[in-house]
Amino acid sequence: MVWDERQAAMLAEMGIRVWQSPAAVASPVIDAKAEAADSPVAAASPASVVPRVAVARGARPGDVESMDWPTLRATVAGCTACGLCRGRTNTVFGVGHTQAHWMVVGEAPGEQEDRQGEPFVGKAGQLLDHMLQAVGLTRQAEGEGLQPAQQVYIANVLKCRPPMNRNPQPEEVAQCEPYLARQVALLQPRLILAMGRFAVQSLLQTGEPIGRLRGRIHQYQGVPAIVTYHPAYLLRNPADKAKAWDDLCLAREVMRNASP
Ligand code: URA
Repeated sequence: MVWDERQAAMLAEMGIRVWQSPAAVASPVIDAKAEAADSPVAAASPASVVPRVAVARGARPGDVESMDWPTLRATVAGCTACGLCRGRTNTVFGVGHTQAHWMVVGEAPGEQEDRQGEPFVGKAGQLLDHMLQAVGLTRQAEGEGLQPAQQVYIANVLKCRPPMNRNPQPEEVAQCEPYLARQVALLQPRLILAMGRFAVQSLLQTGEPIGRLRGRIHQYQGVPAIVTYHPAYLLRNPADKAKAWDDLCLAREVMRNASP
């Protein structure tokens, strides 16, 4: 395969050596142990120093599944269904064109995302943008000549930042899941890229490690879903960027085969 200069630069950023075929650099070895740490914060503070947040039992409206985009966004902005609302600066709803063909699902906002109200704006977000650019995709909603097939909508399982970036708790995921489900239903993406353990668990309802789920086409709400590593995990484990590149190539293949 021949890469243009821009793609080569993006691939270099991902740690991919462009003179090797993706197949040659991919390793079939399943690294379940490494995946267990596949959270942006898994290597962070031990549980003992993570403050417990009491859950504020505000009600989430029951009609989320019939909401339009503006109502859904406003509902998320005012959500108090779990205790995460107490510590947030902003809710992080999602970014991208609402007719994008691609959807990326991540875990939860971090510090920068909480501050700016946009998903994936920190270091992991920069890597994500480079990965997307390497296959010709962008989160930009507006731009001359941009086509839905090049556009990505990005959302997280959780819309509020967990304190000290700790892992999402099942209760929080359960409260937030209907928002993501509605985003998918409204967007009707042609493909979902599930990044990291919590996105995969939430969308596919499985505790299987990522290494065992990669390389296959899953389904969520009838949409093909490809499983890959979280960019934050890739920052800590750059050797696995080659596997993530394979996953992106698989996703692109699925899209090409699906497109008329
Ligand atoms: N990690 C995520 O999963 N989502 C973000 O928005 C930022 C970091």
